[in-house]
Amino acid sequence: MKTMDLLPPRETMYRALVNRDSSFEGIFYVGVRTTGIFCRPTCTAKKPARENVNFFGTLSEALHNGYRPCLRCQPMDPNGHPPELIERLRAEVERAPGGRLTDKELAAMSIDPSTARRQFKRHYGMTFQAYHRARRIGVALRDVRRGARVDEAKNGSGFESDSGFRDAFTKIFGETPTAAKTQAGLFAQRIDTPLGAMLAVADDKGLRLLEFVDRRAMERELSILRKRLRTNVVPGEHRHLDAVRLQLTDYFSGKSLAFDLPLAPVGSPFQLRAWELLCSIPVGQTRSYSWMAKKLGDVEMRRAVGRANGENMICIIIPCHRVIRADGTLCGYGGGLWRKKWLLDHERKMLRG
Ligand SMILES: [Zn+2]
Repeated sequence: MKTMDLLPPRETMYRALVNRDSSFEGIFYVGVRTTGIFCRPTCTAKKPARENVNFFGTLSEALHNGYRPCLRCQPMDPNGHPPELIERLRAEVERAPGGRLTDKELAAMSIDPSTARRQFKRHYGMTFQAYHRARRIGVALRDVRRGARVDEAKNGSGFESDSGFRDAFTKIFGETPTAAKTQAGLFAQRIDTPLGAMLAVADDKGLRLLEFVDRRAMERELSILRKRLRTNVVPGEHRHLDAVRLQLTDYFSGKSLAFDLPLAPVGSPFQLRAWELLCSIPVGQTRSYSWMAKKLGDVEMRRAVGRANGENMICIIIPCHRVIRADGTLCGYGGGLWRKKWLLDHERKMLRG
């Protein structure tokens, strides 16, 4: 799995792009901000200006950043053309990137849902649902970054159909962009990290969520927050979001591995106790599920502990990645095992250095 810091330097990639250098095929993809499309390095389309490009190491990153695959160079298809069924499915997604296609709807289009799933997975290594989710989240979060207000986000993504953006936005944040603006409760921002884009959500009480945007649970977690706190989420600025952004930068650069900001996770009394216990595990160290269960009062609770860790909504800062099997092997991380391994390696390396 490629992380953002393993990409070649920006200048090298831009040169490869201008020269249509085929030796960079599969090394990076390029997203063009003005069109919302992503391409291979060798695409024959007119080359975009330097300031309008974003580089990505994986298809998933490009999709989660709101870009759709170029129809000319077909960056997702090694042979230049997707099979017919996949082409149809992708076209359906583009008609309503904010929606969700149910098995029933697929069947109504005379598409057998299980064939669709199998083909998509075999061809792209991701399920059809994962693809659709990536487009939905990408479109909704495209401009949810520092300083971009909701109305600007809407205008900034002018190349997306207005309704596509609105639908996707509503699915993720629970309100239309206009309604969200008038009754802000929780503030959200996207933060780019070497492990991929994350979404951070905070209010005056503290940080409520920090999650990788490609994680399947993210949409569910946002809806739990909205329901439990009886308010909505709106892209915006907040001092706790500034703090988490700065501290994450320090964490990833190794300048400081410690976090110091108010956390306000939402969960059951048991979850809150489990998460508090996680925070007591020192940087660079690991503990087992049995250790946690024992500390929480019952060695037989390993399963419940595992579940509570998986339901942690404040990744990295509440360090569920520091819990591993008793035999030392890694297991179960919502953000993906490669991230868990990366975080543990990073912490050990930085402590030694
Ligand atoms: Zn292209």
